Amino acid sequence: MHHHDLIRSANAAHEQMRSIRRTLHRNPELSFVEYETSKFIQARLAELNIPFQVMAETGVVAHIGAGDRCVALRADIDALPIDEESGVEYASTKPGIMHACGHDAHTAMLLGAAQILKEREISGGASALGGVIKLIFQPGEEMSPGGASIMIREGVLQNPRPEVIFGQHVNPDAVCGTAAFVGGMMMASTDELYWKIHGNSGHAAQPHKATDPVLMAAHLITQLQALISRRLNPFAPGVLSICSIHGGHATNVIPDVVELSGTLRTMNQAWREEALGTIEAHSTALASSPLYGGGRSELRIERGYPPLVNNNETTRFARQISENLLGAANVEDFEPKMWGEDFAYYTQEIPGTFWMLGIRPPHLEFTPGLHNSKFILDENVLPVGAALLANAALSWLAA
Ligand SMILES: [Zn+2]
Ligand SMILES: [Zn+2]
Repeated sequence: MHHHDLIRSANAAHEQMRSIRRTLHRNPELSFVEYETSKFIQARLAELNIPFQVMAETGVVAHIGAGDRCVALRADIDALPIDEESGVEYASTKPGIMHACGHDAHTAMLLGAAQILKEREISGGASALGGVIKLIFQPGEEMSPGGASIMIREGVLQNPRPEVIFGQHVNPDAVCGTAAFVGGMMMASTDELYWKIHGNSGHAAQPHKATDPVLMAAHLITQLQALISRRLNPFAPGVLSICSIHGGHATNVIPDVVELSGTLRTMNQAWREEALGTIEAHSTALASSPLYGGGRSELRIERGYPPLVNNNETTRFARQISENLLGAANVEDFEPKMWGEDFAYYTQEIPGTFWMLGIRPPHLEFTPGLHNSKFILDENVLPVGAALLANAALSWLAA
């Protein structure tokens, strides 16, 4: 590949991308109501003469190039319900809404890649790209059921069907100019669990005449820790965190109900289903045990995203061509995290690779993390990410 050309094109698009990113950063929109963001993306694509269609209400899918082969690139476009405290001059103008997960940069970088790829198509002809490059601007990554699942249902992976999909996410833990890859398991399934443990209220001094949901809740919390320690293969990652508990209001009254909530995270789709079944069965059995005097557990499961599993082959490929572009010293291993990411839905359908992009300014030791109200990023990442995306698409179609 012509790496120097790619980097030159990406650097030439830097100003444009910075302006796009700042416009989006000033005007963040929450998941599934990204109407202005969507219009902005459409206007930029129209300016570049790239045909597109709207999907999932606020999503946009565009195509560059021609031919039988197809590769997809994806960016997410939504912001978070956070009050910005970053102090940047282009901070959010909308109280309580902030691009604190870098999706403004993801969108700007995909639009930058679009510009680079379109320039190549114009200079070399429609067949010069070696196939079709599908650009997916996806809404609602931050909110269940995830924009990816809706776009897939609406056919984003059809007509034409991509052989592979690439996506990227900014990473405050790594310095700007680097990228990190991992084959196989990368992020977790993310299910939310809500319990109501029903007992029977009574006098604290006469527990035998009541059913105590506080004790049941306490036992449930400790016993469920056996799920990860005794039911999961020690070589497989999993987390069960029960993060809230509410019940009672007095020192001498046993309450009727205790409410708990938490999250189950796994790296394996089959074990995820098994674990949810085990949690449900154990909660029911524990609450109805005669030991407590006849209580009842009500469990609501809000399903999140499946585990994100990168295809080993496409990841080896993406990593190699990224080393060619950035230099091997700037490409690292990514340590898998129990975070969630709806890119997982694409990789359930077709092979794909999601990589992480360093965004920490080199002169800083530390920057606030994703979803933090003080989140910032080094905008020098923009040409890096745009070049990586364009390079991945062109290299795949050339191989
Ligand atoms: Zn996020
Ligand atoms: Zn994100």
